[in-house]
Amino acid sequence: MKITAALLETSGAAHPYAASMPLRLTALDLAPPRAGELLVRIDAAGLCHSDLSVINGDRLRPLPMALGHEAVATVVTLGDPDDQRFAPGDRVVLSFMPACGECLRCVSGEGYLCDRGAVANGAGEMLRGGSRLHRCDGAQESVRHHLGVSAFADHAVVDARSAVRIDADIPLEVAALFGCAVLTGVGAVLNTASLKAGESLAVYGLGGVGLAALLGGLAGGAIPVVAIDPSADKRALALELGAAAAFAPDGAEDAIVAHLGGRPDLVVESVGSARVLELAYGLVRRGGRVVTVGLPNPREMFSIPAVSLVGDGKTVMGSYLGSAIPARDIPRYIALWRAGRLPVERLLSNVGQLKDINTMFDALASGAAIRQIVFPQIERKSA
Ligand SMILES: [Zn+2]
Ligand SMILES: [Zn+2]
Repeated sequence: MKITAALLETSGAAHPYAASMPLRLTALDLAPPRAGELLVRIDAAGLCHSDLSVINGDRLRPLPMALGHEAVATVVTLGDPDDQRFAPGDRVVLSFMPACGECLRCVSGEGYLCDRGAVANGAGEMLRGGSRLHRCDGAQESVRHHLGVSAFADHAVVDARSAVRIDADIPLEVAALFGCAVLTGVGAVLNTASLKAGESLAVYGLGGVGLAALLGGLAGGAIPVVAIDPSADKRALALELGAAAAFAPDGAEDAIVAHLGGRPDLVVESVGSARVLELAYGLVRRGGRVVTVGLPNPREMFSIPAVSLVGDGKTVMGSYLGSAIPARDIPRYIALWRAGRLPVERLLSNVGQLKDINTMFDALASGAAIRQIVFPQIERKSA
């Protein structure tokens, strides 16, 4: 079928993106789903900093690529009609790490580190290999999938292992957030760091993932929770959400130590900066944990006094996909949201259409926006 997708041809476009237009709405051929795959209608998709990292070249991916990896969708057809896992009409949240279920990491319960999924995502291919996206012109050049999702489009073919069924009553702009921001941020605290109730938590960076980590910490019983961000608006939001204090980066370490009467048990770094990771390591108490969910440019090096790992007994943990098992964690986080304990709708800054997407990425790059959502079906109806 013919679809319209936001296509990235080259990375490193000049700012503002509203003028350079790195993402072009392009007509593409979408092949039918193979056995074990689903054709889905994308109902809502979120703009995430890792999309921006592909656009600006911090995260090198093969191009051309149809971007977007955080979405809620509706199943249209199954590649194998006898597949019992899904039915047409099912509402699904898409996860950006398709886990094969068979490799050693998967059978060890660490599907977020799936070997085959990582290779497929690095190549911009489906978990079952190859691409289902092609240009419509004569050459039929194949187009890469972004993390097995490619959600800035009206439809997509995804592996069934990328999809988690949810109830249809959840507002679309809220449901989409569970695919990346919430899964990553809440999971970093509850899964990767195994937060214990009563531990103190500091969060560097109040983007979508950082705020989700803050909410996850509050839901998991962290007390107190403090936050660090240069934006006064985001600090104010953190306080509204339940943070005990929020600080600008200058002088934050001393202010936090004074506020806590000591150092935090757990520090989350969500900025994607090696320098901030070093600050997080310096801030955490002896014996404490630092969890990082940011994706710095690959050239950045992280430097700490080597002896401090032993001498201070600190732990540094990398958290990919919030160490999540999506089929387990998305329903859990939705249950917390229904109970009012994970108000993730507060992360929403703005909604728009695919045609607005470059301007919306400017708002993300400047730090003005937290989470923005596009509704690809609005254009389809009006086209
Ligand atoms: Zn993301
Ligand atoms: Zn696997």
